Amino acid sequence: MKPAIGITCSFDPASGRNSLPSGYDLAVLEAGGLPLLLSNNAVGCVDALLSLCDGLLLSGGVDVNPVLFDQQPHPQLGEICPQRDEMELALCRAALAAGKPIFGVCRGIQLLNLVCGGTLVQDLPSERPDAIKHSQQCPSAQGTHWVSVRSGSLLHRIIGKDRLLTNSHHHQAVAGPAPGFAVSAVTADGVVEAIERADRWVLGVQWHPENMRETPDSRALFQAFVAACRQC
Ligand code: MN
Repeated sequence: MKPAIGITCSFDPASGRNSLPSGYDLAVLEAGGLPLLLSNNAVGCVDALLSLCDGLLLSGGVDVNPVLFDQQPHPQLGEICPQRDEMELALCRAALAAGKPIFGVCRGIQLLNLVCGGTLVQDLPSERPDAIKHSQQCPSAQGTHWVSVRSGSLLHRIIGKDRLLTNSHHHQAVAGPAPGFAVSAVTADGVVEAIERADRWVLGVQWHPENMRETPDSRALFQAFVAACRQC
């Protein structure tokens, strides 16, 4: 039986449309999982939905609302989606309570961190003026910056490398990791690129491995996630 992977979706309130770039469900399928796309209209049924899932994949998307971590909106804050925030917060809390594996991608690492009590950088170029370029201007299949992977981390065990070339499409980032989480990868400027929990398979990455599925490292990430969901 293939493990069922719940995948969160973007939501456009103007059209009422849920959407998901195909890289996520293709990555899950290629890793042997069964992708279940989770509607943002189903916030009243989160526990029932999650009971159908062996793991939760938090996809990328618009900025996280800074009121959720007690900050005022930075002038460079981009589009936010409170309905999606509410849905993903509920799903994330339920998955943590149920002990199910969670994989957060881009917005997903940020969401995961704030749910667990961490804080975020709202805008890297203005808040971290020494930061390198994290908003690449070339196709997402192309890696543009190196991340250093912490030895002994879950991420290091999966990738088997001390450094990794990744794509980068973000202006928000993890600031203070949540209690119980460790930083597992950073760029040369000190920006957090991955966090994880020590006690279970809960991992967030700031890049988009679903867009780099041609690389063994990206496939290894989704295979490790699906394997953890299979054991759950
Ligand atoms: Mn980056």
